[in-house]
Amino acid sequence: MTGDMIGTTNDGAGWVDVARRHMMRTYPDTDVVFVSGHGSWLVDADGNEWLDLLSGIAVTGLGHAHPAVTAAVCDQVERLVHTSNLFLTTPALALAERLADLAGWADGRAFFAQCGATANEAAIKLARRHGKQQHPDKVRVVTLEGSFHGRTLATLEATGQSSKHAPFAPLAGFVDTVPHDDPAALATAVGPDTCAVLLEIVQGEGGVRPLRPEMLAAARAACDAHGALLIADEVQTGVGRTGTWFAFQQTDVVPDVVTLAKALGNGLPIGACLAHGAAADALHPGDHATTFGGNPVTAAAALAVLDVIAEQGVLDQVVTRSAQLRMGLADIGARTGAVREVRGVGLLLGVALEGVAAADVAASCRSERLIVNAVGPDVIRLAPPLTLSAEEADLALGVIERAIDHAATHARRTEPV
Ligand SMILES: *Cc1c(COP(=O)(O)O)cnc(C)c1O
Repeated sequence: MTGDMIGTTNDGAGWVDVARRHMMRTYPDTDVVFVSGHGSWLVDADGNEWLDLLSGIAVTGLGHAHPAVTAAVCDQVERLVHTSNLFLTTPALALAERLADLAGWADGRAFFAQCGATANEAAIKLARRHGKQQHPDKVRVVTLEGSFHGRTLATLEATGQSSKHAPFAPLAGFVDTVPHDDPAALATAVGPDTCAVLLEIVQGEGGVRPLRPEMLAAARAACDAHGALLIADEVQTGVGRTGTWFAFQQTDVVPDVVTLAKALGNGLPIGACLAHGAAADALHPGDHATTFGGNPVTAAAALAVLDVIAEQGVLDQVVTRSAQLRMGLADIGARTGAVREVRGVGLLLGVALEGVAAADVAASCRSERLIVNAVGPDVIRLAPPLTLSAEEADLALGVIERAIDHAATHARRTEPV
């Protein structure tokens, strides 16, 4: 079913042609057009069903078109859509209260943004404001190689991937980047002019790499020694993806600031910058603002997401399904010899491949209508809905095994003699 005619065409091929002519080419070309979804499944413009193990990049944690989220959004749309942040609205207030409670921060305060990058922008500005209260030059930010923090100019600079900087250089020059697994280098990089260390507990885009506990401990100690803030970018790991509300809750470290976005609204665009302690009072009226952030509709969606996760035992499901997928992937590795390592936490998993290209495996999965994506040349990321069923997980494992076999055969055939 393709629905009512909303443009000049009504089929997949027609829409792909519109994309070629009228969309900026910021993404690789694709010819898949989706029109609806339900649970772990997407439906394309030609009526085919796809199993979605990417969840719109770790966003639709409760699956597509979750009835509780849909109901909350519809109800809020009928009531009130927007007021600006010059006034208070109840969904945003209830959400701020809930997030502080889930973080375990009685004095927690939230700033709501539209997405991950704008949540991180708020965190960076907050940290600079906090730093400048101590010293006018205390504005530098330390980040890790391989990190991803967003695409705005400040978050791009904080992203430890120089290939993404090159087309836009020069950048502002306020970031110091250190290796992701070198606690001594991190300790050295943090100094009196550092206002924050910004890091992911599990690097998502950088290849699903969990940080070693020593790195987190070094970051916390360096921040404490120099009056800097530790910011955990939980845009990808937050809202239950790792089996706890926040990934930091499985570590020995408590950050000063945490950012959320992706799964918070199950697809409705909302981000949050959450702080406690002195950091929570660093920004003053007029310092920072947004027209849309924390809009009642997106906040209502987020509240519904948190309700469903809490009431339906979703965090436990994450742990169970993660174990199932890990075991299945280990078996695939044993049978094919093409899996070097399975890493990650909860339902953010990275399959590090040996002798086969991640892009080939992802493409082969897509030819069987299973969505996974490559993060780096040799890593496949799985970020399924947190509600993925055991049967769906088995189905996906079968496709992944065939895809790895296919890619391995292809790689052997094309190997130079
Ligand atoms: C996706 C992501 C971002 C950027 O979020 P956008 O909503 O795309 O701006 C920032 N940090 C991390 C860890 C992410 O995974």
